[in-house]
Amino acid sequence: MNLIFFGPPGAGKGTQAKKLVADLGILHLSTGDMLREAVRQGTELGQKAKPLMDAGKLVPDDLVIGIVRERLGQPDAKAGFILDGFPRTIPQAEALERALAEQGREIDHVVSLEVPDKELIERISGRRSCPACGAVYHVVSNPPRQAGICDRDQTPLIQREDDREDKVAERLRVYAEQTSPLKAWYEKKGLLRPVQGVGAPEAIYAGIRKALGLSGR
Ligand code: AMP
Repeated sequence: MNLIFFGPPGAGKGTQAKKLVADLGILHLSTGDMLREAVRQGTELGQKAKPLMDAGKLVPDDLVIGIVRERLGQPDAKAGFILDGFPRTIPQAEALERALAEQGREIDHVVSLEVPDKELIERISGRRSCPACGAVYHVVSNPPRQAGICDRDQTPLIQREDDREDKVAERLRVYAEQTSPLKAWYEKKGLLRPVQGVGAPEAIYAGIRKALGLSGR
């Protein structure tokens, strides 16, 4: 299955995508994670991306399209994938469609996680993540056993620079302006599967499986 997880920052795309890839045995491709890794390694891409990411702005289309194309061409992407955080603009969606068509593939479903803005701000500002293993927590709704420490590997948790309150408004603005038009774009293609993104994570996950026709499996 070739899927896109779509939604504003803080909608739960990463959390829900991790569950589904574990169940389906497909690849999780998060452009945000790939870019953060490039920043950590100090590559040329990372150096270009860092100031934009820190400011809550989008990285230029050609850079992001390049890394996604490269990754989708690798053998482990053949069995299927979830794209998380990509595409974020119409030109990215067009480039994705072309790249997949060249390989005789296409997107099967676009899962759109629906969450009101007020809840997004609460979720993002309370989010903490492990810089070593990538585990994601929330100070109120999903705290680690020991405050500020990753349950899995005891690494001190960090707040992403772009999760700070002053950056969140800019990210939501960028989403509304550049990314949300994709919803109508995918709806026209008959691929959009809206799913309620508020409530218990298990209930949201059940909604996603149902939208994908997987509920009985
Ligand atoms: P995320 O983890 O998906 O919230 O992404 C974090 C940041 O990485 C975004 O705010 C952008 O600066 C950058 N980024 C991730 N994916 C994309 C994309 N598809 N297009 C442009 N910038 C992106």
